[in-house]
Amino acid sequence: MVPNSKPILIIGGGIGGITAAAELAELGYNVVIVEKEASLGGRVLRMHRYFPKMCPPSCGFEINTRRIRQNPRITVHTLASVEGISGEAGNFRAKVTLKPTHVTGRFSVDDSMAERLTSERDDDFNYDMSTSKALYLPHDMAYPHAYVLDREALSDTDSQVLTEACPPGSVDLTSASREIEIEAGAIIVATGWRPYDATKLDTLGFGQHLNVITNVMMERMAALGGPTGGEITRPSDGKKAENVAFVQCAGSRDENHLPYCSAVCCMASLKQARYVREKNENSKATVFYIDIRTIGRLENFYSEMLDDTNLSFVKGKVARINEEPESRNLILEVEDTLAGENLNPQFDLVVLATGMVPNTADVKIPMDMQYDEYGFIDGSTDVDGVYAAGCSRSPCDVSRTTKSATAAALKAIQCLHRAG
Ligand SMILES: Cc1cc2nc3c(=O)[nH]c(=O)nc-3n(C[C@H](O)[C@H](O)[C@H](O)COP(=O)(O)OP(=O)(O)OC[C@H]3O[C@@H](n4cnc5c(N)ncnc54)[C@H](O)[C@@H]3O)c2cc1C
Repeated sequence: MVPNSKPILIIGGGIGGITAAAELAELGYNVVIVEKEASLGGRVLRMHRYFPKMCPPSCGFEINTRRIRQNPRITVHTLASVEGISGEAGNFRAKVTLKPTHVTGRFSVDDSMAERLTSERDDDFNYDMSTSKALYLPHDMAYPHAYVLDREALSDTDSQVLTEACPPGSVDLTSASREIEIEAGAIIVATGWRPYDATKLDTLGFGQHLNVITNVMMERMAALGGPTGGEITRPSDGKKAENVAFVQCAGSRDENHLPYCSAVCCMASLKQARYVREKNENSKATVFYIDIRTIGRLENFYSEMLDDTNLSFVKGKVARINEEPESRNLILEVEDTLAGENLNPQFDLVVLATGMVPNTADVKIPMDMQYDEYGFIDGSTDVDGVYAAGCSRSPCDVSRTTKSATAAALKAIQCLHRAG
């Protein structure tokens, strides 16, 4: 049977979307990735290292960008959002808005030009723990490796500076968004997740006490290219953190916040406890948990960590975090449920293991789709020709994300053949 020749539209260019795109294109199918950020890679690229192998995400990403760059069957649109989808399996039409980067690409732009600006923006790649110039490269590994101008962050004075600093024609301050239409035979949704908003956990002090951070912030702190150059430090005074608490299920498995388990937070905290221990041999870490959920082979990682005498585990949900005003140390209120004791241990840094919220809880795919009560795409009620992958379906790790992306790619191929 000759398959339908229309491309497969992939919404979201994280590890799920990239995997589906590369696999489809390598089998001879055309794909179009629509990514809302300025570059591909999603949340995984912001990790310092990823479990279970503890390799930096840059290794895998380099291989994947090569697969994408070298394959003419893959078209990538960044700063792009799907505004509407009509049609049916084999014959979808998507309206996509492309925001301008204001950098034309006709002449090269580099950091020496960006450095002349005073206008800055919060660097969302570093979870706003640092700023970047208004003209910026999203990050060192960015694909496409292209500068972007945050027009809203650029002052009038800097508009003038930029015009003088950059080669004529390289920056266009007046370019506007434009709309394109994409025809597609099938659609893969790989829109992923965002961290739960820790400011909603009012007893845990995030946003009130500077030395309470979240697990995603810890990843950037540990990363060499992150805001602290890879040092795990206290935001209040920049001193190295020596005694770190990990508060599990911060908002998760909690009816007032996220009633479900995000499946990766225990492994993420064990991994981060290892960062703490590896960066400073005298450091101590304590994990406060309800249950440690490390399934399958990940259990080995947990067992190895149990051998570390500077790492402690306390079974108990942290009720409150207070700050000691002078030292800005954190004092936890927690019941050790195994010992039956109330504890008030003190730490110099606390990491909240917040869970994953599907991006589709906030921004729905603009077509008739089924979601569960938390906003994950309900895999059991797939619209014909539309398949969800990775964390848009449920919270999961990279290994499960890539498997579900491969499964979605296979379903998309079957759809093209049916619609042939
Ligand atoms: C603290 C922490 C640490 C973790 N560490 C590990 C680890 O060490 N190992 C591991 O295996 N897993 C880890 N994970 C899990 C891992 O982050 C996920 O498995 C992975 O990010 C899922 O990839 P994804 O492509 O589904 O989603 P994402 O990584 O979220 O990618 C989704 C992409 O879609 C884009 N997007 C979203 N909405 C739209 C839209 N409407 N239109 C266009 N584009 C859109 C986003 O910008 C993003 O680029 C960790 C999770 C947490 C919370």
